[in-house]
Amino acid sequence: MTAEQIMKIFRDTAYVHTGGSAEELRAANYLKDCCAELGLEAHLETFEVQMATMKTAKLIADGVEIECKGYLNCGCHEVEAPFMYMPSNDKVSMSQVKGKIVMLDTGMGAWTYKDLCENGAAGFITYDGNANYVDWDIDQKELRSFVRADNPKLPGVNINAKNAIQLVNKDTKTVKIVIDQDEYVGESRNVVFDMPGEIPETIVFTAHYDTTSLSQGAYDNMSGSIGLLGIAEYFLSHPHRYSLRFIFCGSEERGLLGSKAYVAAHEEELKNIAMCINLDMIGSIMGRFIACCTSENELVGYTAYLGHEKGFQVAPYQDVYSSDSTPFADKGIPAISFARAAGGAVATIHNSYDTMALMKAEHMLGDIDFICAFSDRMANAVRCPVKREMPDNMKEKLDRYLLRKR
Ligand SMILES: [Zn+2]
Repeated sequence: MTAEQIMKIFRDTAYVHTGGSAEELRAANYLKDCCAELGLEAHLETFEVQMATMKTAKLIADGVEIECKGYLNCGCHEVEAPFMYMPSNDKVSMSQVKGKIVMLDTGMGAWTYKDLCENGAAGFITYDGNANYVDWDIDQKELRSFVRADNPKLPGVNINAKNAIQLVNKDTKTVKIVIDQDEYVGESRNVVFDMPGEIPETIVFTAHYDTTSLSQGAYDNMSGSIGLLGIAEYFLSHPHRYSLRFIFCGSEERGLLGSKAYVAAHEEELKNIAMCINLDMIGSIMGRFIACCTSENELVGYTAYLGHEKGFQVAPYQDVYSSDSTPFADKGIPAISFARAAGGAVATIHNSYDTMALMKAEHMLGDIDFICAFSDRMANAVRCPVKREMPDNMKEKLDRYLLRKR
């Protein structure tokens, strides 16, 4: 893989492609074609996702309409109620939400949603963007099914941070939310291909290729998808004892839906998977290289030693990573997620600034090189050295991340 080829893929995929959309299908087919160019036959595996078409979304604050986007899949509503700014979801604040439309400082999490429902909130407002940026972008949010869980659907809108400040500063008294949408079941897809080895035991490589609603997703995560192509290309000319499976995951940004669907649909095959190697955001101009190990802690030391051997800066640590490695780890499969993590001042994601302008082909090549070196050791191990068992501290973190424990 050359610097030119890498930049061409970034250019070719420089459009928004959210999970379940026609553009996501376009990106999936593009990646399939990239595989075909390498002589590898990929196929699309579809899975159901909740979709919605927003027809009307209005937020009116003390008679003045505020630009907003309605939460997809939050139902149809017309509600007017007192406004309450709730910068903290502590018990005292929660005890005062009854009958009010509440504006949060955070996005909508599952436990906050449950608390708002149980305490009788009438609706919610979230905001994003950055008051210091010139744009007035508003991200398209959705009420995820696992956030809503068994609770009722509350009306919700997302607004720009600049307007959020105004709502508070103007002592807003009453807000009205009007939402009309068509909700339906649609389709998202994973792109999958195999490189059989000498034994059926398999190492799975994952990277999501979908984006959020404003983002072209060069950094997050066409970079990781290109990484998978680079790894596949490496193993075309290097032997591998383990079989390799590559999965470009769809709908990651909607709550790891692609990898969750994959482990659900391939339950029987999971016992053959020795390890999951996940790439989510590599090759940026700025940032340090990290490796998040959802496994026994020994993998942290191993990865650090490999960095020393290769003269490559890598900061490994043990934790659960918010990416497609997690549904595999939750099935007891040791997982490692590689990323080049840049500070928000030099590279931001999940907004319109995530473009190829953040990327550097030479860093892509260097990162892919190191991940190939790591993968080569695992793929040619006489016996995969990482214990195929989750330690208790990781089980505990998985329980919390996947909302089984608060
Ligand atoms: Zn990502």
